Amino acid sequence: MFACGSVHAEWVSRIDDGIMGTRIVVELWADSAASGNKAIDAVIAEMERIDRDMSTYKPDSEVSQVNASAAKGPMKISVELFDLLTTALEYSRITDGAFDITYASVGFMYDFHAHRKPTEEQIKSALPAVNYRHIVLDEKTHTIRFTQSGVRIDLGGIGKGYAVDRGIVILQSFGITHALVTAGGDSRIIGDRFGKPWIIGIRHPDDKTKVIAKIPLQDTAISTSGDYERYFDAGGQRYHHIIDPRTGHSASKVRSATIMAPTATRTDGLSKTAFVLGPEAAMKIYNRLDDVDAILVTPDGRVLYSKGIASAQPGK
Ligand code: ADP
Ligand code: MG
Repeated sequence: MFACGSVHAEWVSRIDDGIMGTRIVVELWADSAASGNKAIDAVIAEMERIDRDMSTYKPDSEVSQVNASAAKGPMKISVELFDLLTTALEYSRITDGAFDITYASVGFMYDFHAHRKPTEEQIKSALPAVNYRHIVLDEKTHTIRFTQSGVRIDLGGIGKGYAVDRGIVILQSFGITHALVTAGGDSRIIGDRFGKPWIIGIRHPDDKTKVIAKIPLQDTAISTSGDYERYFDAGGQRYHHIIDPRTGHSASKVRSATIMAPTATRTDGLSKTAFVLGPEAAMKIYNRLDDVDAILVTPDGRVLYSKGIASAQPGK
């Protein structure tokens, strides 16, 4: 933390390693350290709440209750969860089903920490339950229903982005206009930093000390998904946390995908797509979306840029 310019304003930052199984970083420009820290306390409290409500690791969470009950019949859920599930289904449609929160119907059998994966038989018998179309949301009654048993949802692919967006809303309610909020690979930025853009680096997939691109950013969200985040290697193959909903296996068509868009919910929801569909098909989708940009690292080390970034490169 350090003061800059006016003695009545300063940068305040905090790192918290205990929420949603990931690292939370908040950095902001505030009138005073005290007011900045108060705003950060509120952001951290909100992230803890979201984790309590939406984590599938917590048996009492609303999402765990949905998984336990929604195949038996319609279950009323909170407006917040209903809206986030509506958004998740929209991303499934945008990405041709590459993003699919029912991946968890198979995904729950993977434990990357314990190096555990399901057998081919287990995948085969669970796979029919993976399909976002099995989720039925009723807007009138605010209920959710699964059309068959065995369906499980997990918001691990969108929840951190959502939590980051909520963090930004809370900071704005405190009058903060310059800030960065990060949860794992998902970040959102408001305003600039010392009159200059924030600089976000994209790491090399095999070497976290190497940066493959540095991007100046202002008033945007950015998410990076990588096959190096949660994984284990066995039999010459990498098993990692992004699952192809069509096969139930890890999706490995890119090494990393970085997405930029106005909200972190959106960047988080779209960053899994390239792993499943491959760089060419995914880039077509990203280029079709006016508010989205992407940087992909392919298995053979190529770095691909979406239209918006490619045209901003010097010499292009
Ligand atoms: P992080 O968890 O660090 O934010 P990602 O944004 O790359 O990492 O999201 C990976 C997570 O997304 C996985 O841990 C899992 O919870 C979830 N997930 C995996 N495959 C899919 C998929 N095909 N569709 C939606 N979510 C997925
Ligand atoms: Mg994420």
